[in-house]
Amino acid sequence: MQRFRRPARMLEWSRQQRCAGDVIAFVPTMGALHQGHLSLVDLAAERADRVVVSIFVNPAQFGPSEDFDLYPRDLEGDLKLLSEREVDAVLIPDTGDLYPAGFTTWVVEEELSDKLEGAARPGHFRGVTTVVTKLLLVVEPDIMILGQKDAQQVAVLKRIIHDLMFPVDVIVGPIIREPDSIALSSRNAYLSGEERKQAVCLHDSLRLARKLLLEGEVDSGVVMDAMRERIESEPSTRVDYIAAVHPDTFETLDTLSDTTLFCLAVFVGDTRLIDNELVELGN
Ligand code: AMP
Repeated sequence: MQRFRRPARMLEWSRQQRCAGDVIAFVPTMGALHQGHLSLVDLAAERADRVVVSIFVNPAQFGPSEDFDLYPRDLEGDLKLLSEREVDAVLIPDTGDLYPAGFTTWVVEEELSDKLEGAARPGHFRGVTTVVTKLLLVVEPDIMILGQKDAQQVAVLKRIIHDLMFPVDVIVGPIIREPDSIALSSRNAYLSGEERKQAVCLHDSLRLARKLLLEGEVDSGVVMDAMRERIESEPSTRVDYIAAVHPDTFETLDTLSDTTLFCLAVFVGDTRLIDNELVELGN
C-alpha cells in the first residue's frame, strides 16, 4: 500500500495506473475509520483494479463553532485497517497543499446546498464540494464511492460531477449500522453510555416513518409528528431537523411519494447525529 502526502505524487501514480489500463476507484474519508468506511473500500475493490482512499479532516467543511479540533483522528489505526484491505494507495494531504496560502477559489453548488444540512451548517457543502473537486483533480479516479449515510452529500456531489462534467461514476454504498441499528459514525465516539442507548431513537423514528408510509399514510405532517414524538421521548435529545424529501432534489414533500427520503439531524447531548431512510415503494 503506497502512501502519498504530496498531491503531485498522487497524480503521477494515478496516471501511471490508468496508462496501464487500470480502473481506479476512490473513497474520500476524514479518517477515524470504521466498518462503514471499510464497506466502501470493499465496494471499491469489487468495482475497480486499483483502490485509492484519502484521509483528510477538511477544515473548510466545519463551521467556526463546530468540532474540527475535537474530531477523532487515528492515522496509525486507519493505516493498519486499510493495509488489511485491498487498498493500493492512501492520500494523506497536508492542509497547506490542498489550500495554498491566500487561496480564494471555492466550488459552490447553489440549489441543493442550502437545504437541510446546508441550512443547519452554513458553508458546510461549500467546503465539501471544494475539497472533493480538489481530490478528484488529484486522484483522477474512474469511480468515486460514497456512503448513503450522508445522503445530501451524495446528491450535492452527484450534482457537481454532472455540472462540472467530471468523468467519474458515483457508486453509493448502503448505511452500515451497529447491531442495535445506530448508524456507524466517527462522531458516535463522543456519546456517553447513556446517550448511546438513547441514540437508537433516530433509527426507530425512521423505521416508524417507513412503516407509516407502507401502511398508506402520505401526509408528511402526520409522519413527521410521529417521528418527533419518538425522538423526544428520550430525555437527552433535541431535534435539529426532520424532513421527508425527494432524494435527488431534496425538495420537501408535503405529500409523501413512492420515492421518499426521510432524513434527520438530532442532538443527543452535545453530539449532533444524522441518519436517513430511503423508502421506494414497489421495490
Ligand atoms: P467521513 O469520514 O465521515 O467523511 O465519511 C467518508 C465516507 O464514508 C462518506 O461517503 C460517508 O457517507 C461514508 N460513511 C460514513 N458512515 C457510514 C456508514 N455508517 N455506512 C456507510 N458509509 C458511511
